[in-house]
Amino acid sequence: MAASTTPCVLVLAGLDPSGGAGLLADAEAIRAAGARPLCVATALTAQTTRRMHGFQPLAPPLALQTARALLEEEPVRAIKVGMVGTVAMAAAVAELLADARLPAVVDPVLSASSGAALFQGGPDAARRAYAGLWPYAVITPNALEARILLRLEEDPLDADALERAARELVARGAFAALVKGGHAGGTESVDVLCTKSACERLAAPRMAGKSARGTGCRLASALAAGLARGASLEEAARSAKDLVARYLGAAAEAD
Ligand code: PLP
Repeated sequence: MAASTTPCVLVLAGLDPSGGAGLLADAEAIRAAGARPLCVATALTAQTTRRMHGFQPLAPPLALQTARALLEEEPVRAIKVGMVGTVAMAAAVAELLADARLPAVVDPVLSASSGAALFQGGPDAARRAYAGLWPYAVITPNALEARILLRLEEDPLDADALERAARELVARGAFAALVKGGHAGGTESVDVLCTKSACERLAAPRMAGKSARGTGCRLASALAAGLARGASLEEAARSAKDLVARYLGAAAEAD
């Protein structure tokens, strides 16, 4: 069989067997954005559409071995990292990102929407773990995650606060930061994208979608797919936001 030339995104993330979030949602978004997903599990979660029951981290050497084998054989053009679950897995993934030298998107997964933890070791360990990854990547925290990563007193909710958080992440070494305002109020959902040279505000009409899970996973994955296809960071971020808006639109119809 001839090898596919479709650009691949290598994903390292947790498996949510319900498909709402994690690797299955990542794969769905990456295909919809025109790239091919290669999925390496960092952790298995026990969860349904309604509830998170727990998770089991996987062994970092197995994840690294799988990722390296895929990088060798497939046309991987970008990497997406979601849930890493432990400090040890984060260190292994940092090593992989440093060696791979590919565009990368890191979605800092700390807890489920229900509040259940998705990282072992508490906020300080999670902060250090994701800080070890962001020099190689566009980091995509929502307001709550930005507060934890930056030890802010409150969630950055308006566009100015989101921009300050994005600038601060870049000042602390992130290659780029896309801080998402999806949890804020108002009629528009504003995300702020900052690199070392510029900041851009990306606005879209705010959408309902009560049953929609995994919007953060899907946004980061679609962003990685855009980068894999050669789009600029800003173009890829705008298309990823459109993809999430379509997903939320479909979920709102189903509610
Ligand atoms: N499970 C996994 C494996 C995830 O990566 C995430 C979020 O990124 C979640 C669950 C949480 O999803 P939600 O916020 O939709 O509960």
